Amino acid sequence: MNLDKLAERYGTPTYVYDLAAVRAAYADLRAALPEPTLLYYSLKANPHPTLVAELAALGCRAEVSSTGEVDAALAAGVDPAAVLLTGPGKTTATVSHALRRGVRRFSVDSPTDLARVGAAAAGHGTRAECLLRVNADEPVAGMGLAMTGTASQFGADASWVLRRPGDFRGTAEAPVTGLHLYMGSNLTDEATLLRQFEVAVAIAVRLRDVLGDLTEIDLGGGFGTPYARAGVRPTLPGLAGPLARLLDDRLPDWRRGGPRISFESGRYLVGDCGTLLCRVVDVKSSKGQLFTVLDTGVHHLGGMAGLRRLPPILPSVRPAGGHDDAPAEIVTTGLVGPLCTPLDTFSRTAELPAPRPGALLTVPNVGAYGLTASLLAFLGHPAPAEVVVDGDTPVSASRLCLDRVDLPVDQPATVPSGR
Ligand SMILES: *Cc1c(COP(=O)(O)O)cnc(C)c1O
Repeated sequence: MNLDKLAERYGTPTYVYDLAAVRAAYADLRAALPEPTLLYYSLKANPHPTLVAELAALGCRAEVSSTGEVDAALAAGVDPAAVLLTGPGKTTATVSHALRRGVRRFSVDSPTDLARVGAAAAGHGTRAECLLRVNADEPVAGMGLAMTGTASQFGADASWVLRRPGDFRGTAEAPVTGLHLYMGSNLTDEATLLRQFEVAVAIAVRLRDVLGDLTEIDLGGGFGTPYARAGVRPTLPGLAGPLARLLDDRLPDWRRGGPRISFESGRYLVGDCGTLLCRVVDVKSSKGQLFTVLDTGVHHLGGMAGLRRLPPILPSVRPAGGHDDAPAEIVTTGLVGPLCTPLDTFSRTAELPAPRPGALLTVPNVGAYGLTASLLAFLGHPAPAEVVVDGDTPVSASRLCLDRVDLPVDQPATVPSGR
């Protein structure tokens, strides 16, 4: 797809997502996982309806955490039976919304959460299947953004469950029939991925002894891919074999669905499908330091990045395509956005071919944790256009917008006078 043409047609900033890249990532991830296993797409990476629909058509289930994500998954064609609602702060309103829409699988984080799902299911006259989210007590060596082995706001410590298993079995309306063991994110090497799955399987085997038979064990994922800079999504050709042997060894009936094994991924499936097109607005120097000001910033990209800290974002400069194209000198520049805060900085020391006002820049590998992970409402700039292509064929174009909706204002009751 000609990015320069898209930038002209839709203006900048514009996100471009390529469905051909989504299919390639899906095929690579399936090849990295043993069969038969289930794969959930985590909508928080990118809830764009065309991407979710593509992944649903490929066979992904949906891992969601809010009423908005429930609706996005169902609107994209995901079967409600294939939706898993997760998250540490599920309110009764959220759970009830999901139940009304046909969702029956919930990851629960605590006895309180389990009881809340149970009460909501009973209120709806239905039954909810619960996967208990468990936090491993030991750290997994080699994991960066670890959600395990330390105090965690997610799930229940395995030691807590072992100490008081009766608090974690659920009720007739909401029995705990599975486990959810998401341990971390953006792991790129097979050895680390395998080690976390070994820890997860060991926990599952121990907890099965106290919780009884389990129908599903969600082993999480954390499959990594480059973010907001050049780089190639890794393939994981050496994972499926050892993972299948691990499961054969520890959970010998897994191939017959006793239990079913599932995985989750957001960034791996959509990270490299997305590119952000933006332009240089100004280039100036302050006290010897160069600043390149862009028409995009942390309200469109990198507001949170799905990581605890924001890594520097590194776009590449498009060659202008003119005749006088001597290769530009490489300069070190601060790369900043238009927001009125010094936090709106993609990089303090980007090394780029000297950018000129009007130059088109592309930020690669931003299909995951781009627009919806950013500070869209801050300062009121419009959202970038989002254009979906399939190779060279345009598929959809849209722009997200925030609307203020008026709510009724209750006037204080007037006290009749003369009493
Ligand atoms: C964020 C999250 C994911 C997706 O993480 P990626 O790094 O995008 O694959 C999966 N499962 C849970 C529970 C999450 O919180």
